[in-house]
Amino acid sequence: MAIRSHLFCFLITLLAGTLNAQSATIQSPDEFLTYKLGSRFTPHHLLVDYFKYVDGVSDRIQLVEYGETYELRPLIAAIISSPANMKRIEDIRQNNLRRTGMLAGDTKDENIAIVYLSYTVHGNEAAGAESSMAVLYDLLKAGSPYAKWLENTVVIIDPTLNPDGYNRYSQWSNSVSAGPNNPNPTTREHNEPWPGGRSNHYYFDLNRDWAWQSQQESRDRIAFYLQWMPHVHADIHEMGSEAPYYFAPAAQPYHSTVTKWQADFQIQIGKNNAAHFDKEGWRYFSKERFDLFYPSYGDTYPTFAGAIGMTYEQGGGGSANRAVMLQNGDTLTLFDRIAHHQEASLSTIEVSSLNAAALVKEFGLYFKNSIADPPGAYNSYVISAHTNPGRVEDFLRLLRLQGIRYGIAAQDFKGLKGLSYLTGDQGTYAAQKGDIIVPASQPRAVLTQVLFETEGNLVDSITYDITAWCLPMAYGLDAFATEVQLAYDPALVTPTQKLSATERPYAYAMQWGSMPATKALTNMMLKGVVARYATSPFRVDGKDYPAGTILLMRADNRKHSDFDAVVKEVANSSVVPFTPIRTGFVESGKDFGSYDYELVRRPKVLALAGEGVRSLNLGEIWHFFEEELKYPIDLIEAGEIGTVALESYNVIVLTEGYYSISESTMEKINDWVSAGGRLVAIGSAINKLSGKDGFEIESKGTPEPDTSEKEPPVHHPEPYAGSDRRSMSDDIPGSIFQTTLDTTHPLCFGLGETYWTLKSTTSNYKWLEEGGNAIYLDDSPRYYGFVGYKALEKTKNTLIAGQEQIGGGSVVYFVDNPMFRSFWNSGKVLFSNALFF
Ligand SMILES: [Zn+2]
Repeated sequence: MAIRSHLFCFLITLLAGTLNAQSATIQSPDEFLTYKLGSRFTPHHLLVDYFKYVDGVSDRIQLVEYGETYELRPLIAAIISSPANMKRIEDIRQNNLRRTGMLAGDTKDENIAIVYLSYTVHGNEAAGAESSMAVLYDLLKAGSPYAKWLENTVVIIDPTLNPDGYNRYSQWSNSVSAGPNNPNPTTREHNEPWPGGRSNHYYFDLNRDWAWQSQQESRDRIAFYLQWMPHVHADIHEMGSEAPYYFAPAAQPYHSTVTKWQADFQIQIGKNNAAHFDKEGWRYFSKERFDLFYPSYGDTYPTFAGAIGMTYEQGGGGSANRAVMLQNGDTLTLFDRIAHHQEASLSTIEVSSLNAAALVKEFGLYFKNSIADPPGAYNSYVISAHTNPGRVEDFLRLLRLQGIRYGIAAQDFKGLKGLSYLTGDQGTYAAQKGDIIVPASQPRAVLTQVLFETEGNLVDSITYDITAWCLPMAYGLDAFATEVQLAYDPALVTPTQKLSATERPYAYAMQWGSMPATKALTNMMLKGVVARYATSPFRVDGKDYPAGTILLMRADNRKHSDFDAVVKEVANSSVVPFTPIRTGFVESGKDFGSYDYELVRRPKVLALAGEGVRSLNLGEIWHFFEEELKYPIDLIEAGEIGTVALESYNVIVLTEGYYSISESTMEKINDWVSAGGRLVAIGSAINKLSGKDGFEIESKGTPEPDTSEKEPPVHHPEPYAGSDRRSMSDDIPGSIFQTTLDTTHPLCFGLGETYWTLKSTTSNYKWLEEGGNAIYLDDSPRYYGFVGYKALEKTKNTLIAGQEQIGGGSVVYFVDNPMFRSFWNSGKVLFSNALFF
């Protein structure tokens, strides 16, 4: 079928040149695919073929391949408008960018709305991708009643934001259900196998990644998005089969930066959708469940970029397959789901076209106002460029990906009142010449504010996701915010180092404590370099070095023919400071021959994968090794661990999940640890060890908190209404806690004096009695974001990261997942310590 479609596509393209493109008859999806849209799931390559085919026969579309997935599938978007608009589409795009200030120059007055429809970011919410073909055809077919909208509207259709996940799902669906539908929800065709099609290749939820851009699909898409900056963005999903359709307006809480216009126009769009759904007699809801707070969604991220950002949700999703029986006796089909998304999509274009002038005007005002009067209390954010260049460069890379402007301080500034992100304290701070300055006043003012705030202004405690994400804390930056608007030089010089080509020092020292440092170390190890780390501070050649400093000694590498060349090549392509050291005779601390300089472990890593493992967590680990470090990792099915020769590994990562480990396997693991292995237990995996023979870790349990001052005495039974709200008192949906560090512990090397942890669990563990409490909470931890008062009580005096010695090896416990969504960068440094030290 694929070959025939390609051939057909080719013939049509040839013909198109000889026809008046506008009058060409466009094949419907049914005709092109040769089956009725909705009768099965369309393989991704055919979906792409249909868009290419339409691109070949219509003069009202321009198809863009804006990127590629990890599995090498194309990421495409169709730009659609009237023939007259398409002739000057680049002009329209640039004019809109000038409206935001992201492109210099004056904006021409023109009222062309830009509506961006994103389908199937969750690959198994596949009705979206199917409906994108129907919407494309509706807009472009001969005699389309919707063609008039295109005269003042540009529509961008991304048929699937997650082709790898979509392909995983559609292929599975077709493999188990090609004949008649079986709507019985307990049958195999309604139970997707692990890991399901929701996530991308590395099992990341791409609808949690807009702000962090840890994944290739997100980086490619947002680069494209920032070229267009639409006025309306709908992110089209599916949820459980029983739920009716959901559309705007969103539920509370709204982030405080959401403007009145954005909130009002959500209502207008919702009313228009409702009118269409009413006519059809379809059930729907709005104003519930889906809020506008966490910035990394396909509704909030566009909202913080000036758009009307929305989530649409159809009942269905992975388990619905092509038809599923509902509790009311009805059968929900893929045809129904496509029809609903099609209607909501067209309605969104309609209401945008009808209000194009207002949309354009308000979009322009959004940027004018946020540049002139940025939201938030601070006018400048200052990041020390001198403390840890590796962390800074990682952070600046994200700012560049987000189109956030920054520059460098051309002079010293003193006496700046503001907030330190390192300590969380208000005080007076100074900026040095060369420090990074991020101005609050800029086209991306709102996103800047959202990413730098310690916590959002949460008007309602019930939310869908984490409630704090402050990036300078996530990256562990030496940074502060100040009300003063600081002058900066926009010309940036990336710090580079050049180690002398001829010098052959006694040793090289490398600064530890950033992802670029972890990458440099693994890179050198893969090239055969042997490294040590200092277990205590030292001073040599007139310079002080902290514990954790990586030392590449000539003595350890005397048989490595390219030792200097490898170190210099890695150093000169990295921003991490490398320092040649002339002698091993130190001025303070221990000489380089001392046992205090231990060998860095060369990790041979096994991580548990497969059924029962939390795929998101596995993906975080897999992606960390394979994509970030380019370092090998063996993924082993959790059920197979008992059969594996553990002695080939020196690190085992117990991934989060509900898999079980048999008693005999646990004994085997325990013996392996005793013999020198390093076991790393993440988050809920600790439960598999807690209370078990041979492991000291123990759950803190759930003591009753002292509530005397927090709640009035209850004189009446609690009403049924509001019970979900009350359960929040026991919850931590995701908040930032300031921890206490034992800076002499190797798990803390490179972290500095402070570590902020992102806590999204209410599992708490006691301090380890035999020591090894590297990072912990005391009895009054500072925190940002929402924490239920009962849950807060339970976190006091608990472990965050600890190490228990067992024989010649040890277990490292990470109570909070340090790899969370791959955006908590200082967590990845912490994880690196468990690997190497
Ligand atoms: Zn979804």
